[in-house]
Amino acid sequence: MDIEIATIGGYEEVGRQMTAVRAGDDIVIFDMGLNLSKVLIHDNIQTEGMHSLDLIDMGAIPDDRIMSDLDGDVAAIVPTHGHLDHIGAISKLAHRYDAPVVGTPFTIELVKDQVDDEQKFGFDNDLVKMSAGATMPIGDEGCELEFVNVTHSIIQAINPVLHTPEGAIIYGLDKRMDHTPVIGDPIDMDRFREIGREGVLCYIEDCTNANKKGRTPSENVAREHLRDTLYSMEDYDGGIVATTFASHIARVKSMIEFSRDIGRTPILLGRSMEKYSGTAKRMGVDFPDVEMVGYRRSIDQTLERIMNEGKENFLPVVTGHQGEPRALLTRMARGETPYDLDAGDKVVFSARVIPEPTNEGQRYQAEKLLGMQGARVYDDIHVSGHLCREGHYTMLDALQPEHLIPAHQNMSGFSGYVDLASDRGYKLGRDLHVTNNGNIIDLV
Ligand SMILES: [Zn+2]
Repeated sequence: MDIEIATIGGYEEVGRQMTAVRAGDDIVIFDMGLNLSKVLIHDNIQTEGMHSLDLIDMGAIPDDRIMSDLDGDVAAIVPTHGHLDHIGAISKLAHRYDAPVVGTPFTIELVKDQVDDEQKFGFDNDLVKMSAGATMPIGDEGCELEFVNVTHSIIQAINPVLHTPEGAIIYGLDKRMDHTPVIGDPIDMDRFREIGREGVLCYIEDCTNANKKGRTPSENVAREHLRDTLYSMEDYDGGIVATTFASHIARVKSMIEFSRDIGRTPILLGRSMEKYSGTAKRMGVDFPDVEMVGYRRSIDQTLERIMNEGKENFLPVVTGHQGEPRALLTRMARGETPYDLDAGDKVVFSARVIPEPTNEGQRYQAEKLLGMQGARVYDDIHVSGHLCREGHYTMLDALQPEHLIPAHQNMSGFSGYVDLASDRGYKLGRDLHVTNNGNIIDLV
């Protein structure tokens, strides 16, 4: 059976992921993501009404025109998890393919939200929910799609595996190796080892942290760090405000729990806080009951209520961990909300600054503004969602793949992975395929 892999997006950047695998007459697409930084750099761009080709020209979504070079029919579009750099282009590209979108239940709910907002294109692809551990047949030449449970900074992440007569093709984006996640099951290393013994033709790897030594800690480590930080504030009788990634359901859950432990009522504030946590709650994820407020006018009314009832009784969990100019924390820092920050009030960033000049500048500005009001900043209470080098070593050991394709980075970001793979006996151009966006690798 012919096997080809088209590396469409996310091979020159972290963002706009998209990869297609052709096995005989059948094609499976993994991820259709958005590169948000290419959108945010322009002021006030609303992508909902934009045409795909304009977004491709901006570098915001994958250039999928290379798909016409693959001789087969798309059987499934498979987003690995609900981050925008993996699902954000589905509303712009999926309608071109007569194929279902197959993902875990939480991911599919987020895809639904996203295609509901779309204004330019209709969307009538079937949405199919499949949980980790399950499989589905692909085409009629004996291929099968399997979801292996992995752990990442969003719940219900999986690594899809396409089983072909020539061996397994594993799409390894995005994950860390977490044996004590706060929500959900640990990474299924037993299954990866089993697939490794059966034979892996190709492994596509998440190289986000390939240049970092050591091991990425468990979410449980960030949880303990957060517990220590919030417990240290138990006797403080002023304002405490916390922020994190709205999509990071496990972290938001920890915030809610520790807030209550120190005698404060948590309230989730901001449109994306309400969207992600509300979806998790509706889907029966192990998530506490909590007040959530999404719209600006209601948010301001809630902040007014907090001030009236005494801000020492509350812990607002807000959007704005990257200092985004329109997010709630930044508005609070600018004094544009009814919430008054006083000298000594605490602001907890349970997030890392995404290392990108726009983010760094905005976050710097937000912290300066908070400081000017006298607020004290606690930052970097976080662990990464991506494997570091020893995780990559362990995955190679478990899978023993014939071919490797580094992904989810740019050329310099791949270098640590190329070193590691070369040490393990892989050879550039033979079985280690460093590539760009828009290439097709002929495997069999
Ligand atoms: Zn991700």
